[in-house]
Amino acid sequence: MVHFVGAGPGAVDLITVRGQRLLSEADVIIYAGSLVNPELLSYAKENCMIYDSATMCLEDVIAVYEAAEKNGYTTVRLHTGDPSLYGAIREQMDVLEARGIAYDVCPGVSSLFGAAATLQCEYTLPDVSQSVIITRGEGRTPVPPRESLQSFASHHATMVLFLSSGMAKKVQRELIEGGYTEDTPVGIVYKATWPDEKKMETTLGKLAETMETEQIHKTALIVVGDVLGNRYEKSKLYDATFSTGYREAKTQAVHATGAANAFETVQTDKNDILMIACSRRGHELMQRVHFAWEEQMAQMPKFAGRIICKTKCKALPDVSDVRSVADIVAAHITTAKVIVFFSATGIAVRTMAPFLRHKSVDPAVIVLDEMGNYVVSLVSGHAGAANEYTNYIATLSGAKPVVTTATDVEGKFAVDVFAKKNRLTMLDWTFAKEISAAILRGETVSLDTTYEIVGNVPDELSVNDSTAKYHIKVTSDVLEIYQKKENELILVPQCYMIGIGCKSNTSEGLIYEAVKICMDMYGADMKGVAAVASIDLKEEEPGLVSFCRSLNVPFMTYDANTLNAVTGSYTESAFVEQVTGVDNVCERSAVACVNTFKRVDGSYGHYEFVCRKTAREGVTVAIVQVERKLLI
Ligand code: SAH
Repeated sequence: MVHFVGAGPGAVDLITVRGQRLLSEADVIIYAGSLVNPELLSYAKENCMIYDSATMCLEDVIAVYEAAEKNGYTTVRLHTGDPSLYGAIREQMDVLEARGIAYDVCPGVSSLFGAAATLQCEYTLPDVSQSVIITRGEGRTPVPPRESLQSFASHHATMVLFLSSGMAKKVQRELIEGGYTEDTPVGIVYKATWPDEKKMETTLGKLAETMETEQIHKTALIVVGDVLGNRYEKSKLYDATFSTGYREAKTQAVHATGAANAFETVQTDKNDILMIACSRRGHELMQRVHFAWEEQMAQMPKFAGRIICKTKCKALPDVSDVRSVADIVAAHITTAKVIVFFSATGIAVRTMAPFLRHKSVDPAVIVLDEMGNYVVSLVSGHAGAANEYTNYIATLSGAKPVVTTATDVEGKFAVDVFAKKNRLTMLDWTFAKEISAAILRGETVSLDTTYEIVGNVPDELSVNDSTAKYHIKVTSDVLEIYQKKENELILVPQCYMIGIGCKSNTSEGLIYEAVKICMDMYGADMKGVAAVASIDLKEEEPGLVSFCRSLNVPFMTYDANTLNAVTGSYTESAFVEQVTGVDNVCERSAVACVNTFKRVDGSYGHYEFVCRKTAREGVTVAIVQVERKLLI
């Protein structure tokens, strides 16, 4: 019999009572010497045979199990923390299963909890985070792409990172790119509950620096999240006004606040323009702006979207929403690209504060005073285009636009506006700020690119200037992206249209692999994908839909007639034609997609196939690269 036993995080008395008993009864113990406290071996009986697995491979360990089993011995395999987390027990259990050797598992206190105890924190605080993401940075062990740190960071949940102390810089960068702010609190716990334990409390912006200064390179957990800060709501469980199965409420139950509810909604494409009025005058002004906006919609596709108007005003009981303003925002935060308040700025600021995450994801927030004198670009002036919306609303309403972002005030080049305008993916928002600061200081920044530039290059930029200190490099080349130089901000143009055909129920993973292999062959980075296209029969194909969602790109579908009408010669297949009514899906839909983009965006030029129809495990992929121009 083999018992997998969790040793606990370090301290000898943090093993479970059962674990200790199993240790004391074992004839053979194999322990993970690199992480398990050797003092635990003092619980072993005298003639017990002890092996350190640090120097053994899986086969060696199995050989010990088998030999012990032949002799009727009991073996304990002692794993650090709890064996179910990064313990590599599944592969052992499978072999034991196959060889008919009985086994069981005794849980242990994971370092996940050891670290919480050291930090004296609660991972789940009402209104801050109700979830814990347990993950790791990608090192030699691959992490599935849909589990990127960026994508997890966007939830703003509590996150605990194992096995990541050797890559603090990368972790810091990816978490910030994903949406945690630089001032998000971080706890680092080295050897939690061991006698030589160390804890450090810092912020995400200083994570790598702190780990470097403190020389922490292994056996540490990184805990990230606002639960380490000071703002939270008291628990409902012990709230006197809240009923539970054991206790009646003293007064009426209160509702969870808007911010807590907001994150229960799934992220979807953002297309909503949410307008909120908080007074009679504000309501009337909102109606005027709404009307004018709708009227302009066809002529101004740039500002098109679904307009949703909400009023919260006691004096207007018939139209007033029953929810609080925060709850209204909460209900729309994941789908709104713009939120316009017709109110005092204080209402807007206080309402929006808990919802704001990072400028890469926040909606544009705009405020009009109820008289319509001023329209203020409040949040996400550049990345969310609040400044553009502000100027637009100014023309619709006659209000005076108020814009306060520094580069606009000084009339200088703003790299985030440039990136947005040209659909360039910005890889490092923190460094972008340094570039803006340099521009504001009057330094010249080089724009390194082989693309055609349309428009006048402003004084603060020079093109391909090797003497400049700071560089903005526009490239979709994998090597250039990964060999990024210091003082270089990489912007990846979204220039690849991927056409895909697949069998029903093909998994997202297989689709990702098929595309990635084709992209790799061409040396193209996945961040350069502009859109994915297919035939309309695949509109709701789950693997394709989630593939696009995890890449955060539009999924365009076309009917057979449109695909047949696409000119050019394509790899034909009689079978595909029989099933879909068109002789080729992937190549034709990629080209159809180019045509759509060209219609709406002047920066897309000629295209060429970089990869014709390539089939892999039921997925066909074609990649078209579109020539891009950079609009300044
Ligand atoms: N099964 C273990 C984790 C094994 S993976 C558990 O439940 O804790 C090994 C990683 O766990 C280390 O790289 C480190 O990130 C973390 N770790 C293990 N023990 C730790 C401790 N005492 N303090 C901090 N981190 C620890």
